[in-house]
Amino acid sequence: MKVKELSEKLARKEIASVEITESYFKKIEKLNPKLNCYLTLCKESALKTAKESDERRSKGKTLGPLDGIPIALKDIFITEGVKTTCASKILENYNPPYEGTTAAAFKKAGAVLLGKLNMDEFAMGSSNEFSAFGPVKNPWNLDCIPGGSSGGSAAAVAADLCVAATGTDTGGSIRQPAALCNIVGLKPTYGRVTRYGLIAFASSLDQAGPMTKDVTDAALMMNVMAGFDPMDSTSLNVPVPDYTASLTKPINGLKLGIPKEYFIDGIDSEVKQAIEIAAKKYETLGAKVETISLPHTKYAVPAYYIIAPAEASANLARYDGVRFGLRTPKPEDLLDLYEKSRTFGFGPEVTLRIVLGTYVLSTGYYDAYYLKAQKVRTLIKKDFLEALQKVDAILTPTAPTPAFKIGEKTDDPLKMYLSDIFTIPVNLAGLPALSLPCGFSKAGLPIGMQLIGKHLGEEKLFQIGFAYEQATEWHKRRPAL
Ligand code: GLN
Repeated sequence: MKVKELSEKLARKEIASVEITESYFKKIEKLNPKLNCYLTLCKESALKTAKESDERRSKGKTLGPLDGIPIALKDIFITEGVKTTCASKILENYNPPYEGTTAAAFKKAGAVLLGKLNMDEFAMGSSNEFSAFGPVKNPWNLDCIPGGSSGGSAAAVAADLCVAATGTDTGGSIRQPAALCNIVGLKPTYGRVTRYGLIAFASSLDQAGPMTKDVTDAALMMNVMAGFDPMDSTSLNVPVPDYTASLTKPINGLKLGIPKEYFIDGIDSEVKQAIEIAAKKYETLGAKVETISLPHTKYAVPAYYIIAPAEASANLARYDGVRFGLRTPKPEDLLDLYEKSRTFGFGPEVTLRIVLGTYVLSTGYYDAYYLKAQKVRTLIKKDFLEALQKVDAILTPTAPTPAFKIGEKTDDPLKMYLSDIFTIPVNLAGLPALSLPCGFSKAGLPIGMQLIGKHLGEEKLFQIGFAYEQATEWHKRRPAL
């Protein structure tokens, strides 16, 4: 079910929120053992919220399009009184004493929280294999990864184990799993959606966004998520449009740029072909497609793997066994307490990033690595800003390949890191980008395309995405489970 569809059914009183919520839990009980997307279920509170929504509606009142709609949050979103683990052993029993802004916004909109979704530990990963609580399976092929780090969200939406979900994206974690599971995912402009109540990974890159079954639903979710938050110092204090308002505007005469640097060696031929066909489709819809250049693209992944670990090493210093989460039972002294709690609490990928990040920030290496990476970041941003003066949006593949097999890349971090080669530059530049379904491989795995827009240009991306969606059928395909 989609947000819009269900919201209309609820309005016509064809179905009650309690009834639909119960049916989602039934489906979750059946399929979650196969997919492992949910880490925590909130059955009792969900049914209570659903009942309140139904009662409100019976009195002729509603809180808007999300009222009574069953959704789920990635387990990186802080939820008061609901376990929030970030898929890490170090937070295995963490019950936040406060509500994050996004969770509060969904509550206020009347949405029903079904549960919290699996992910890579601390959002570090591209395959969901780095969760401390087991991998998520791709609903299109259970031997394949769903993408990451928001793999639980992507799989849950694709398999319809929730109506819509949230994710976070530091280097591609909304868009890449969305592409690999045949759903829509938006990484908003940096600052558009609050980070207050997100467990921090790399604070200058982290951004929360919607993961949904189509563009309309993403717009409806953004209407709840976007906006100024005084609790986040990087939140933008600018008005929020109604994101559904411009969906149906024609795209006649709009210009799309295809960066020549994105068709690298290593890109899957079926992915390349799907993007070429999508570009042709846009031309038949009246858009102009031209080749553009983003010359510093090849430096994006290396720069990201200095900046993101550097920020992560600082952000994760707080998990010291004293203030948060896991504490080793019998420490010999304070140093031993830190060491054992962290060694036991963090998985191998998180440990690797902390070591890397600490190294690039250390005296003597700071200038050579961190400072240089920041300069590269500026060049990458400049590339985009120049290109976006000539075109309305940039069209690229979201990921270089369709979903790969579980275990295929776990021993080779570089191969894994390259999964985000097309998404990482966007985070470095702070721009918004939308991923949407645009084809299938011969093996039956989804392929996604990415539309990159100007700062605060989410509306335009929705408009361009919606036009394509109306003209194609890809987004309608659902996995047979
Ligand atoms: N896969 C990238 C990483 O491991 C991006 C993760 C993300 O966007 N959270 O860092």
